[in-house]
Amino acid sequence: MITRFAPSLTGYLHLGHVLHMLYVWGMAQKLGAKVLCRIEDHDLSRARPEYESAIFETMDWLGFVPDLGIRAADEKPSEFRQSDCPEYYESVLQSLEKRGLVYGCECSRKQIAASQPKGTEELCYSGTCSEKGLPLEGNTVRFRTLEGETIFHDLKLGEQRQAPRNQCGDFSLRDRNGQWTYQFACVCDDIRHSVDLVIRGEDILFSTARQIQLFQTLEAPVPQYYHHPLIHDATGKKLSKRQRSVSITSMREAGLAASEVIGQSLLQAGFSDIA
Ligand code: GLU
Repeated sequence: MITRFAPSLTGYLHLGHVLHMLYVWGMAQKLGAKVLCRIEDHDLSRARPEYESAIFETMDWLGFVPDLGIRAADEKPSEFRQSDCPEYYESVLQSLEKRGLVYGCECSRKQIAASQPKGTEELCYSGTCSEKGLPLEGNTVRFRTLEGETIFHDLKLGEQRQAPRNQCGDFSLRDRNGQWTYQFACVCDDIRHSVDLVIRGEDILFSTARQIQLFQTLEAPVPQYYHHPLIHDATGKKLSKRQRSVSITSMREAGLAASEVIGQSLLQAGFSDIA
């Protein structure tokens, strides 16, 4: 069994990641899985090399050692770093294009947002461009989502039902600037890295059915899923790199020991009986 730790290169790791690593390495031990590490830097506009070095330093310092995949920022090129593999994603996209399962879309985010009912959490694309025959190059590339509900069993949360067509509609695999999206790059990688156990935060739960549709369309086995709880800040927001939550790098610089950082992540996650 293979699971993975797949941080995005959009900032420094924070306490939420420490909790995540405890779940990944902990569940791997419980289920006899190996942990693979890959760097999700498909968003080239936000990825920065210093984030990658900081991720490996933090993992080393906390003692999270992957069994497989990339282990250091100087491993270049690597099949476990998304920005090193555009040809692979391109080849998967071509296979979908040959089957007529993707199309080019010229709608802007603003146009799509304007057609949404007030208060919608996620933009749902209505398929305006689905029959226009626009080229993929220079346009957003969208996947023709399947009708109906996808039902899956989450190892932590039990039975889940999601209908991607109503949640997000035909979601994008590549943006108009040629950048691969998280949904697409993540599934392509889980397939080629033979990941069969996906452990990740509940904040990504909503993405799972659309990813399952991609696995099924690409005739790849669907992994098992385990979505774990998150750490929230005092205002109830989940910790995030974008919100500039305190980084582990700065906690370390402030003199905290690795064990104290791990303890804090558990306390903030609500494991209060360890206090
Ligand atoms: N790269 C994603 C993140 O850092 C994780 C993706 C996943 O586990 O599917 O949030």
